[in-house]
Amino acid sequence: MSDWESVIGLEIHIQLMTKSKIFSASSTAYGAVPNEQASYVDLGMPGTLPVLNEIAIKKAIEFGLAINGQISKRSIFARKNYFYPDLPKNYQISQLDLPIVEGGHINIQNDQNIAKRINILRAHLEEDAGKSIHSKKDNCTFIDLNRAGTPLLEVVSQPDLRSAKEAVEYMKKIHEIVTFLKISDGNMQEGSFRCDANVSVKKHDDKELGTRTELKNINSFKFVEKAINFEIQRQIKLIEDGGRVIQETRLYDENKNITKSMRSKEEANDYRYFPDPDLPPIEIDEKFIKEIKDGMPMLPDEKRVSYQKNHALTDEQINILLNNSDISNFIDDVMKKSKIEPKKLMNYFISSIYLKMNKENLLMQDMMITPDDFCEIISAVENKKISKGNIKQIIDMPLTSTGSIEKIIEKFKKAQDDDQKNINSLIDKVINDNPKQVEDYKKGKTKILGFFVGQVLKNAKDSDPGTIKEKIIKILDNV
Ligand code: ADP
Ligand code: MG
Repeated sequence: MSDWESVIGLEIHIQLMTKSKIFSASSTAYGAVPNEQASYVDLGMPGTLPVLNEIAIKKAIEFGLAINGQISKRSIFARKNYFYPDLPKNYQISQLDLPIVEGGHINIQNDQNIAKRINILRAHLEEDAGKSIHSKKDNCTFIDLNRAGTPLLEVVSQPDLRSAKEAVEYMKKIHEIVTFLKISDGNMQEGSFRCDANVSVKKHDDKELGTRTELKNINSFKFVEKAINFEIQRQIKLIEDGGRVIQETRLYDENKNITKSMRSKEEANDYRYFPDPDLPPIEIDEKFIKEIKDGMPMLPDEKRVSYQKNHALTDEQINILLNNSDISNFIDDVMKKSKIEPKKLMNYFISSIYLKMNKENLLMQDMMITPDDFCEIISAVENKKISKGNIKQIIDMPLTSTGSIEKIIEKFKKAQDDDQKNINSLIDKVINDNPKQVEDYKKGKTKILGFFVGQVLKNAKDSDPGTIKEKIIKILDNV
């Protein structure tokens, strides 16, 4: 076994789910025409002043409470000074001393499947920068400032992670919390959730940590794992070959699966942080914190235990619920109202509503179905009023008012009754028309049943052959 140990600390940038930016009224919606959502404040025009978005504060506090962190009674914004074309003010408003959240922790399962606590150093608020779009075709760089001023929460972990896998576990846990609590949409393709990974290696019994490198801006769980693993191996090889790791920022190249040096500590910026004179300190009292706490739902970790212990759901079913609090709220309501076993309810849900949501990329609220309606439909299936296949058909219908669900079920029930009547008369006809075959059956040639079933199915294509066979046997045995 190798006597090397890897040490990792993550800085996760989470875009907060607010309608407007952290210091201006422009929209944070993703995908708009470039620069349509950049106000004078976002552009850093002289004479404009930032106004703090209260929702951003609330979301940061929710996160702090969710990780058992300390909410600062007083926190301040600072200017982090640097030049970059996508930062028109030449400084980013961030927090250095007195961040909004200090301390806290997350529990993960480590590589040996043992519970492990990962400590969090701090979580601070800041504004996102704009985007530089490098165009080879036009041989120039475009600047899009729509993202400038989008609220970010930067969550900084202690160097407690010991493998790339643990880092991913930790990141997934944070992702689950922020999406379940609607602190962030967590969309990694759109950059709402991204991470810098600090990586170092040391010998197992070394007390001191090794020199770290920082891997910038990795935006998928898969690449975080790959980039960290590459970097661990690179550092081990470097040291074993007699070299030493230098503190630097490195970029991960997804295509080549390597990390490349970007800038070293010597070239690092001196940001000359100082308190932002345009923004007063944020003062938060107990009452404000309590109100936020009282409005928070159960956390994903507690919810998981409850779904396991109280409802005996499978891990797969639980993951679907913890991935989306709208679905979880819907199912919680259904479970309260229905007498049907929760696991069965979930299977009905997954094979109908959830399937449609995924196929057509719809949200829970797009489905226009209430928990009551869903309960009615499921109990109609359980009571054999309608068939399982009918669920999907009903889900596909425009359900706008709750009053109509009984009517819809009745309609499907009538159609099913008509089908049954039709099948019964088809069976009678086939038996009457084929006396010779009936005779053969009576003599013990039971194989002939296939012929009867086939004749009926010719005129009732979608029916269940098993049920038809049973009916035919019943009649023939009584002739
Ligand atoms: P800085 O202020 O330079 O960004 P911090 O002390 O805030 O440095 O640490 C940034 C991140 O680096 C944290 O997530 C921390 O856990 C991690 N980190 C610090 N030292 C090490 C190390 N030796 N190896 C790996 N990660 C480290
Ligand atoms: Mg840092």
